[in-house]
Amino acid sequence: MKCNHCKNPVKAQDVICEWCGREITLFQSNDINHPINNFEDELREIEITVRKEIQARIDNKNTNTKEGLIGKIFGTTNFEEWDEDHEEDVRQQVYKLQAKAVANFVLPTNPKLLIEIKEFAENNYRLNKVSFWDEGDENKNKLQLSLAWLHLSNMAKNKLGIENSRSTVNIMVTYLNKNSNLKWGLIVIAVYVLLFVIISILNYFQE
Ligand SMILES: [Zn+2]
Repeated sequence: MKCNHCKNPVKAQDVICEWCGREITLFQSNDINHPINNFEDELREIEITVRKEIQARIDNKNTNTKEGLIGKIFGTTNFEEWDEDHEEDVRQQVYKLQAKAVANFVLPTNPKLLIEIKEFAENNYRLNKVSFWDEGDENKNKLQLSLAWLHLSNMAKNKLGIENSRSTVNIMVTYLNKNSNLKWGLIVIAVYVLLFVIISILNYFQE
């Protein structure tokens, strides 16, 4: 690897060139070889592929309909069309596959790139975050994806040597979201405790 200013050899993890003292620019933000751009392309590719597969499934179903031609002529065959259910299917599969891609992302060694990836992962975590109350089976895959992003940003932070600044409450919420039975168990207990307190107070005033 060479410095982009003086062309002297530099290491992949260097931020400043030891020869000329200038900042080493590995990639311009619009560089097609930039790891984040490549990553974004891969994530987009996943969605495109899933859509194609589902469309192919619909087409296949429609051509293999028994009374295909006759039905077409008389308009009695219900041809399957792309609808909200397919859209939901796409979303769920994309969440699942993207979570896998994020989990398998290999972090670079250069600190500047690491910071960019950390920010990229944090943004995506925020975008896909599932709130405490929306967490359920229907959001299982989305939760998986958001946690994959969170994990990636934490890995980048670790590599950069940044102390994890997440609060205890935050960690607990994430933990409970991963363990939905425990979460609902605690909520039920909390409701019982609250009821018990209310009844005790009522009894106290009645006497
Ligand atoms: Zn240089």
